[in-house]
Amino acid sequence: MVYNVYGRRKGFEMLCPLGSYPLLMRRDADDREEMVKFLTEETSTGAASSLYVHIPFCDSLCNFCCFYRVLLEENRAESYLNTLKTEIMRYSDTEYIRSSSFGSVYIGGGTPTSLETEQLAELLTLLRERFHILSDAEITVETTTHNAKREKLEALYENGVNRLSFGVQTFNDATREVLTLKDTSSDAISVIRSAQDIGFDNIDIDLMYNLPGQGMDDWKRDLQCTAELGLESISTNPLFVARGTAFAREIEKGRISGISDDRTEIDMYLLAIRELESAGYQQQNLVHFMLPEKEHAYAKMRFGQCDCLALGASAWGFLGGYLYGNARGIARYTESVIAGAESEYPVSRCARLSKDEMMRRYIIGSLHSISIDRDEFTRLFGVELTDVFRERIKGLLERGLIVSDDSTIMLTDAGKVWCTNVAEEFCPDQCVAIFEKMFGD
Ligand code: SF4
Repeated sequence: MVYNVYGRRKGFEMLCPLGSYPLLMRRDADDREEMVKFLTEETSTGAASSLYVHIPFCDSLCNFCCFYRVLLEENRAESYLNTLKTEIMRYSDTEYIRSSSFGSVYIGGGTPTSLETEQLAELLTLLRERFHILSDAEITVETTTHNAKREKLEALYENGVNRLSFGVQTFNDATREVLTLKDTSSDAISVIRSAQDIGFDNIDIDLMYNLPGQGMDDWKRDLQCTAELGLESISTNPLFVARGTAFAREIEKGRISGISDDRTEIDMYLLAIRELESAGYQQQNLVHFMLPEKEHAYAKMRFGQCDCLALGASAWGFLGGYLYGNARGIARYTESVIAGAESEYPVSRCARLSKDEMMRRYIIGSLHSISIDRDEFTRLFGVELTDVFRERIKGLLERGLIVSDDSTIMLTDAGKVWCTNVAEEFCPDQCVAIFEKMFGD
């Protein structure tokens, strides 16, 4: 049953862009002027927001990576940080952001720790000076193990960073080489131990599965090794071979082989759920497993209805009902911040969401978090979820993809496996067609 629910299984990598679907259907900056006016004049609702800052630099480029990132060059990084500073000043001067408070901050990339320690410290100070970051806010910095030197981690800790997310991918050294990772598993473990020693008590590591040559036993060892490190959070993602990556080219040339089929990927995901739950972790969303007393506040807020102020090249955010995407690429981003008029923002796409789009976005975000809160849906939209999407929900229940009680709709394990297909059921046909083009075979 779990292997054959829809014709073709859509990967987890589609779920995030699916949540931003109205933007893809309205490619222009239609509503940007309206959003700028809104930010200038309105005050926030008072609910805590999240803050995302994109640092698009890495000091080495992994062959499989399809994120927007470039190789670090000192001058380029300095100039990018200056542009980012201008963007921070512009937003923080608006009425809406002045009256907002931030319950989570996420500095992602790229590899933020490819920056110099002083640059990171300066950025964190500026964020605190210009935004009302709550005293108990979760502040995460993404990093890799090969460039997270102890003094850099200490500086982050001293500057209020209380969560680290390490891109480890695997503890198997042969596979690390295939993935062009720069350090060995024992180096990676000693960096993680050093972060624990400094005092970080909310550490996440990213693991990937369905890697070249990786069998079920190898995957189980990676999971066990991670659990033994006593980390608070583990995220598991299948390898996504994106078109145009060095990794995809190596596969075409026959230099990398041994990636298994969809069935194995499903088995590996289900194994992760079993292994991590038996090691005491709870699944918070499709990919994150956490110790019971911990949570990933940023993910919760980002996939809920909270505002997210997103800064930096290619970042996308959600403010007061406006979904927006920043200019893609450092050059275009810089041009739109620096060359723009005083009131300009680097927003290249912007859409004021209709009630129908808000409802669908709420459902897709909730599916990422595994459950839909029916009461909250009614509170937010003034209608019952089951009244609006009766037939869809009935079909999903019949296929065993969800279970439901009076207050919640939860994905079953089969529903988690097929979550992107489930989410598509709540998207307009036009959006599904766009995604087919983007991610189709
Ligand atoms: S370090 Fe992370 S962001 Fe940079 S290339 Fe590797 S996977 Fe991509």
